[in-house]
Amino acid sequence: MPDITDILFRGAEQIGISLPPPVLERYLYYIAELKHWNERINLTAVTQDREIAIKHFLDSLTIVPYLRGVNKVLDIGAGAGFPGLPLKIFAPSIAVCLLEASQKKCFFLRHVVRGLQLEGIEIVHGRAEDPAIIKQYAGGFDLVVSRAVAGLFPSVRLALPYTKKDGSIVGMRGKRGEEEEREMEWASLGMRLIEIKKLTLPFTKEQRFLVILQRVQM
Ligand code: SAM
Repeated sequence: MPDITDILFRGAEQIGISLPPPVLERYLYYIAELKHWNERINLTAVTQDREIAIKHFLDSLTIVPYLRGVNKVLDIGAGAGFPGLPLKIFAPSIAVCLLEASQKKCFFLRHVVRGLQLEGIEIVHGRAEDPAIIKQYAGGFDLVVSRAVAGLFPSVRLALPYTKKDGSIVGMRGKRGEEEEREMEWASLGMRLIEIKKLTLPFTKEQRFLVILQRVQM
């Protein structure tokens, strides 16, 4: 059976990404800490190495093609860090902000960031709809992503105030719903649908849909 390094490396290759050894090493540290902390606080229901590698890390890496030209990324409801933290580790020059409502999860995120000595990453404890947080970060991000926080429309509404004009919002979906198609409704939010990308997670038959939207109006 392939080990976790093999799954990460070969799985990333399947989605068109070559993972350099220092990135792999950091992922292994992150996975070890995730498993260790998960024994005490509930960070994730995914506990097996193979599943963690595929469902958390490789799934997060599906966003990499959308990082071209991006300087600042916001991950709303990052939980144990997905997808924002694997992206930061892969592309360290991008400034990443992880916004998370659970204080315990923020402690874990800060622990991993310290352990990996990452710079240019901010962990914000709070809710995306909090007016004080919106005021501080309004329009500050080239790309806003969230995974498994709310349905597509509610999560886009949460992301909207944080997105720069011409910036992108990426919805990560387990299945394709009708709502993705409603271009009229996207227009009413000042958004334009750019692409719906269908993927299959490496080593599985699980489908994923990335809904890429651009903010065209402020
Ligand atoms: N994105 C991570 C992932 O895919 O593994 C975590 C998903 S978890 C199901 C949802 C997370 O979003 C939780 O950690 C929760 O505390 C956080 N959350 C939910 N609503 C939020 C909000 N309005 N603002 C910030 N975080 C929120």
